Amino acid sequence: MPQPTLTELEPGLVQITMPLPWALDHVHCYALAGRDGWTLVDAGLGSDATLRWWTQALAQLGPEPVARLLLTHYHPDHVGASAGLAELSGAPEVVQGRLDRAMAVAAWEQGSDDEFEGYLRDHGMPAALAAASTRAESRTGVRLASPTRLVDEGDRVVMGDEAFRVLHLPGHADGHIALLGETSGRLLGGDVLLDEITPNVGRWPDTARDPLGRYLATLQRLSELAPRRVYPGHGPVIDDAPSRAREIAAHHDERLDAAAAALEEGAETAYDAAQLIWRDEPLGFHEQRFALVEAISHLERLTETGRAREPGPRRWRPALA
Ligand SMILES: [Zn+2]
Repeated sequence: MPQPTLTELEPGLVQITMPLPWALDHVHCYALAGRDGWTLVDAGLGSDATLRWWTQALAQLGPEPVARLLLTHYHPDHVGASAGLAELSGAPEVVQGRLDRAMAVAAWEQGSDDEFEGYLRDHGMPAALAAASTRAESRTGVRLASPTRLVDEGDRVVMGDEAFRVLHLPGHADGHIALLGETSGRLLGGDVLLDEITPNVGRWPDTARDPLGRYLATLQRLSELAPRRVYPGHGPVIDDAPSRAREIAAHHDERLDAAAAALEEGAETAYDAAQLIWRDEPLGFHEQRFALVEAISHLERLTETGRAREPGPRRWRPALA
C-alpha cells in the first residue's frame, strides 16, 4: 500500500514524500523545525489518501505544533490538499505568493472545463481527444487553503529559525515562488529546478504569453544565485544548481530547434508541432496535453526571437516562409 516517506535530510529539515497516482509517482513536501513549531512546505494532491498520509506524517513529526504552511505554486500536486492540511494541522499561518493565489482562485474556484477544452481544440487538438483529455482531468479534488499572508519577491519569511528570502521565479507557473535561506544558502525550490526530469513549461489558458522566455530568465537567475542546495518538489536533491540550470536551458535550445524544424515540415498548429517534436517517443493520453502546452511555449519563444511568425491566432509559420 502506498505510504508517505519521511526522510531527515539535515537536522530540522524533513522531506515528506507523498505518492501520486501518475507517471510522475510522487511529490515532496517539506517540514522545517523551528522554535514556534513546524513550517510545512506544500501540501500534496487533494485526495482523502493524502490527508490520511498527512495524519501519519504529522504523528511521526511529533507533538510540536505546526506554525505555518507555505505554498510554492498552484499546481494540483502542491496545493490540492492545502485546505485539508491547514485544518488537520491547525496551522495559524498560511503563506502564498500574491500572484500565485490569484491564479489558484481563477483556476480552481472559477475556471471552467469548457474554456479549457476550447483552448485545446483551438490549438489543433482533435475534438474527441480534447473532450476526453478535459474530462479525464477535471476532478482533481483541489481545495484551497486561505492564505493569511501574501508574499512578493524580496519579502522575508522566517521558517525553522532561519530567515528565507522570497524569490519570484516564473516559468513553470507564472506566480511560482521559492525560498532562499539567507544564512544556509539552501533553496526550497518547488518545481523551478528538477533533476532527472525537466519542469513542464506550458502555456496554459491562464498563463501569460511566452512562459519559456520567463523560464529561461529564471534558469539564468538560478545559475547566478547558485544556491548551495536545492530541495525540489520532485526527484533528487540538487547540489550543483548552476550546472543543472545550464543543462535544462540546453534542453530547451534543442526543443526550440525541433519546434522550428516542425514548422519547416509544415506544422501550423501547436498540436501538429507536438506530434513532430515527440515523434520518437509516442505520447500517451495523459502526456498529450502537456506536450501541446509545452509546444505552444516553444512556438511563442520562436516568434519572440524572430524565428517564426504568427499569421493568425494560434497558427505559426517559419519566419521566412
Ligand atoms: Zn509538481
